Amino acid sequence: MPWVVWMTFLFRAGLLIFLYSLLWQLASFFEIGRQVSAFYPAAGVILYFVYRFGPAYIPVSAIAIMIGAHPVEPIWDWGVLQVTMAIRQLLFYSCLGLILRKVQLFKMPLIRLSSVSILISGLLVTTLLSAIVATFLMDHYLSLNSQERLHVLVSFWVGDLGGVLMFMASVSLFLDYYEKANRDEDLFINGYLRPVILLVVISTVTTLLFIITGLQPEYSRFGYLILLPVAWAASFYGMRFALFTAICVNITAIGHYILLGLDAYPAIELQTLFSVNLAMAMLLGASLEERRLAMFDASHDPLTQMLNRRALFSEGNALLERCKRQGREMALLMIDLDHFKTVNDHWGHQAGDQVLMDVAECCRKVCRHTDIQGRIGGEEFVLLLDDATPEQAYTVAERLRHSINKVIVPGTKQAISTSIGLSHLLNQEDSLEDLLRQADVALYQAKEAGRNQCRSVMISPTPSVLSEMAS
Ligand code: GH3
Ligand code: MG
Ligand code: MG
Repeated sequence: MPWVVWMTFLFRAGLLIFLYSLLWQLASFFEIGRQVSAFYPAAGVILYFVYRFGPAYIPVSAIAIMIGAHPVEPIWDWGVLQVTMAIRQLLFYSCLGLILRKVQLFKMPLIRLSSVSILISGLLVTTLLSAIVATFLMDHYLSLNSQERLHVLVSFWVGDLGGVLMFMASVSLFLDYYEKANRDEDLFINGYLRPVILLVVISTVTTLLFIITGLQPEYSRFGYLILLPVAWAASFYGMRFALFTAICVNITAIGHYILLGLDAYPAIELQTLFSVNLAMAMLLGASLEERRLAMFDASHDPLTQMLNRRALFSEGNALLERCKRQGREMALLMIDLDHFKTVNDHWGHQAGDQVLMDVAECCRKVCRHTDIQGRIGGEEFVLLLDDATPEQAYTVAERLRHSINKVIVPGTKQAISTSIGLSHLLNQEDSLEDLLRQADVALYQAKEAGRNQCRSVMISPTPSVLSEMAS
């Protein structure tokens, strides 16, 4: 419907203009020298919107640049310099946005090293070229001396670099938070608290160092100590915490600068700290995420995302040992889909794969978070139920069987059925292999008895189990 498209466009355009203006004003709020802000994040808005939503947002960005500086620099007061500077900003950042759009390896939120490397290298080049043009324009219209030229060049370069990195880090964090919040994770307790504690400790130490040294400019490098919590958070907790801590650190650094009156220090030093901090956070965070992904890939089945055979054995043995040590019960369910070959033969492998994914979802739903789920063969799954009596395990198995009965082959009305064999930890000497062997015997009995049923080595269904199952 075209009006929905138009409304979406107008909403995004409004958001772009609002964010650009807000960040432009924010930059002037964080002034750390005459006409010098600690960072310039506004260009990041153009970059992100053009990257995310396409070239239609280039004209909107032009409007944002024209009205964003109002009322500090109203458009009717602009001279040729301001106009050419605005065109420079629009050109460079929308070009980078269009390039990022084309590069398949770049993805937001930032997780992979490839995305981070593309963003950092793209920004290093763009901000440098943009700074060279800005210096040329300012030299042409304002006639700078050689020292001023160098200052303008470096200041534009690191100022824009830090600002745009800060904006992209915030967007990445927002997107990540939005996705994770939908999955009901307790982000604050599980994640943000520890980096925040680290940050408070380190920023207190740096503040004290500044005060003890009497705020002498030659001690300004103490500020770099504040990079420690970022490196720490990134290496221990990954990208989310790296970005969160880096953003907090940059704000704390500006706090030091403004509240402690460190304005004798060169602003470029703070701007460089900003950029180094964010780039380091992204690189370290991404390298931990890469390691996590590699570990996940090595231990999980790519189709169902369940543990693979090797990981099932290693995690299963650990659970078995824990249960033996703590005297807890444990049950093993071996699940084998009935006549699954027919599903593939009649409706194709793709339909079969979808059924396997749906069955894996059924398995996840009946398990508690301490249970272990794995795929040990084509259409064979194993669940290890922690702290489950034979009756409770049987109830879970029946619930799972009913839930798998509701899975249908995609595009048909064909339902799926499964047979389940159960075994239990009875003797301290039993190994995981023993439990698997016993469950396999029970599974064979279930298949022999006509399929679509559960069989336990321990129990035959009693009235109490049946009534529990019915509930
Ligand atoms: P039964 O009731 O005796 O278990 O019959 P079945 O057809 O399920 O028996 P069998 O174990 O011989 O068949 C397993 C089938 O699972 C064979 C193969 O076509 C299919 N299969 C194995 N791995 C995959 C997979 O990754 N994807 C798909 N779509 N099918 C798979
Ligand atoms: Mg089989
Ligand atoms: Mg089968």
